Amino acid sequence: MRVTHEVPLAPMTTLGLGGPAAVLCELFDPADFPEFVALADASPGRPVCLGEGSNVVVGDAGCPGAVLRMSTKGLRITGGTTDGRVLVEVQAGHLLGDLVDTTIAEGLTGMEMLVGIPGTTGATPVQNVGAYGQETADCLVEVTAWDWELRRRVTLDAAACGLGHRTSVFKRSRRWTLLSLVFALRRSELSAPVTYRTVAAALDVPVGSRVPLDEAAQAVLAVRRSKGMVLGCAGADDRSVGSVFLSPEITPAQADGLRARSAPVNRFPDGSTRVSASWLIRQAGFELNTPVGTGVRVSSRHYTLVADEGATATGFTRAVERVQQEVLCRTGVRLTSELDFL
Ligand SMILES: Cc1cc2nc3c(=O)[nH]c(=O)nc-3n(C[C@H](O)[C@H](O)[C@H](O)COP(=O)(O)OP(=O)(O)OC[C@H]3O[C@@H](n4cnc5c(N)ncnc54)[C@H](O)[C@@H]3O)c2cc1C
Repeated sequence: MRVTHEVPLAPMTTLGLGGPAAVLCELFDPADFPEFVALADASPGRPVCLGEGSNVVVGDAGCPGAVLRMSTKGLRITGGTTDGRVLVEVQAGHLLGDLVDTTIAEGLTGMEMLVGIPGTTGATPVQNVGAYGQETADCLVEVTAWDWELRRRVTLDAAACGLGHRTSVFKRSRRWTLLSLVFALRRSELSAPVTYRTVAAALDVPVGSRVPLDEAAQAVLAVRRSKGMVLGCAGADDRSVGSVFLSPEITPAQADGLRARSAPVNRFPDGSTRVSASWLIRQAGFELNTPVGTGVRVSSRHYTLVADEGATATGFTRAVERVQQEVLCRTGVRLTSELDFL
């Protein structure tokens, strides 16, 4: 484990904002974790865990306590389940992108639509990461975590993780540090059915088709690139946290009213009915590529906020609040942010 002091966290986040960590511990070997527990116990407050920093806003004052950067790597295909699925055990710091690539190369279906999502595997249950018809909940079996309340290592099965639409028991809780995860995937050269029209169009196949795993992944990547949702390919929109806002859950009455205004209203796997956050942001008068505060603007390709020169974490947070207020005022729907403000 590498321990350093007063380390700027901005370069460790995709927004590039925020102050320093009083103590930064980079964990490469899971066997060193007890060393981190001892160090965190001697620091103020509950420790914060950082993966690739692609879903957080670090405050301008930084973090006064211990920050753990999860950099453990490795995965193991461990065997099968009784229903014929293959188990894959992954260290929390392993990049999700590398995991997805491995599953495709191994001829395993279940994660191919998650291609292009930045971050570590350990962060995937935190907001039940998902895209284009697949989500963590579909294949997560269990996680091993350090429980800071019980002060011991625990194993939580998927049900105990409370995975919902971009949420879980871990979201904004500092109670658990996820150390390793087990997923169950199916052997297949073909992808899950393509449920998104844009992806089906990129593949030139009808919605519901199954295509070779790699072709599905390439089509998803092409669609994501067109929206500036692949880091390193988004040009001026690259200082991003993906979608800042969740598509909010709405009541049946709100759904009727919004459908009458041609809003995209959809049912989600957790049973919720939600309206598109992008639609709400547009309705509130925010155009693509327009400023929402100093150094903060709407992306040029997608209704989300990105950072520019001059941005601060405080300014970004104010811009988030401004969008929420305008959306509430113009549409009566409360937008919530999916980010963790550290
Ligand atoms: C361009 C772009 C596109 C994106 N597209 C999508 C998308 O399609 N779908 C989607 O769901 N998300 C998307 N995201 C959001 C983001 O990639 C995911 O939320 C990802 O899982 C965050 O991983 P991370 O390692 O960067 O986590 P971080 O941003 O470092 O942390 C996020 C949260 O998880 C906690 N955390 C991280 N690791 C651990 C751990 N080991 N134990 C306990 N808590 C932990 C942190 O404390 C924090 O609360 C996108 C982001 C960007 C920038």
